Amino acid sequence: MQASLADAPTLVWIGLGANLGERDAALRQAVQAIAALPGTQVLRVSSLYRSAPVDAGGPDYLNAVAEIATRHDAHALLAALQAIEHGAGRERPYRNAPRTLDLDILLYGEQCITTLALTVPHPRMHERAFVLQPLAELVPGRVPPGALHAVAAQAITRCQDSGWVDG
Ligand code: AMP
Repeated sequence: MQASLADAPTLVWIGLGANLGERDAALRQAVQAIAALPGTQVLRVSSLYRSAPVDAGGPDYLNAVAEIATRHDAHALLAALQAIEHGAGRERPYRNAPRTLDLDILLYGEQCITTLALTVPHPRMHERAFVLQPLAELVPGRVPPGALHAVAAQAITRCQDSGWVDG
């Protein structure tokens, strides 16, 4: 089915995380899959960060944030991201289970969305250093004052530039 696409693109920030398998490769392939979506361009990807799981066990996560421009509406984009997660072997045996790939819509333009399937801005993003630090690297103006300070106790390490998008 061909999703209908809006005329004008919207700037969107997507949180990426993985804590099973080849985490670096999973995030890189996810960025490539997002870039291949119709009407969608990956503009920038933050550095990679390593973080301890929040409210869960398992190996450390590798995290990043991607800035994209897309003509998909938010629900079509969510469906596309879930298909990419599924393609990466994502299973949901229980809440906060370790995962091969997690893709969250953090911000969709300036929109506030509350439906059964989707809440934007992402409801837990302001509690998570692994979201706020890479997001602040790309768009500091979208991270509220004091938010980074509030999560300063969470263990997170900037590993390297992702280097996945030129420019
Ligand atoms: P997770 O287990 O973290 O991948 O959560 C996925 C569930 O969260 C799905 O059922 C989505 O419909 C829902 N959800 C609500 N808001 C968002 C969002 N902003 N980005 C991604 N998933 C969301």
